[in-house]
Amino acid sequence: MMSMFVVGLTGGIGSGKTVASDRFEELGIKVVDADISSRVVVEIGKPALSSIEAKFGSDVILDDGSLNRAKLREIIFKDDEAKSWLESLLHPLIGQHILDEITSATSKYVILVSPLLFETTQFQMCNRTLLIDVPKDIQILRTAKRDKVPESQVEKIIASQMDRNQKIRKADDVIVNDGEISDLIAKIDEIHQKYIALTDG
Ligand code: ATP
Repeated sequence: MMSMFVVGLTGGIGSGKTVASDRFEELGIKVVDADISSRVVVEIGKPALSSIEAKFGSDVILDDGSLNRAKLREIIFKDDEAKSWLESLLHPLIGQHILDEITSATSKYVILVSPLLFETTQFQMCNRTLLIDVPKDIQILRTAKRDKVPESQVEKIIASQMDRNQKIRKADDVIVNDGEISDLIAKIDEIHQKYIALTDG
């Protein structure tokens, strides 16, 4: 069997990843979402959830038996050892789930959308990477509007994410999302043709 051509799609908070991946889907391309995989591996009944409970206690479990993400985030924020323990548990499981999703795809290529593509080993699963890049002032305005939060809160999140220029250097392809949504769609349509050509070649 021929192996699947995978394009990793990333970008900072509110950069336009969802608008972009929705368009790839409309073009008939399977989209695998790393955020979904990261939730699936800790669902109720999954071994990773039991391991997390055994390590951190019942504090990290909600009344309905599901993971208390806010509590877990709080713990690992203050404890580097706990953070690396959690990452070494979850990253291989997330990677395997992503791989299973990629393997089951029948489209011409696959988009792997991940906010942490370059921060994890996920970029290694990709033949190419595509960054949705946006100037910071626009990023702050759009995200604050979408999430109905103060601009200062968005600025803090941006500061905690990988530097924009670092991502630009790492990405094979960069689409700048500084115009209308219709401009972004047109740019996706154009790069889709390029990916189809690469896949056929
Ligand atoms: P997150 O990582 O936070 O999930 P994201 O990268 O998926 O964000 P989107 O949700 O696609 O980003 O876009 C952020 C917001 O900006 C959305 O409300 C979206 O509709 C809007 N948006 C995206 N592109 C444009 C654009 N070119 N013009 C105006 N609004 C836009």
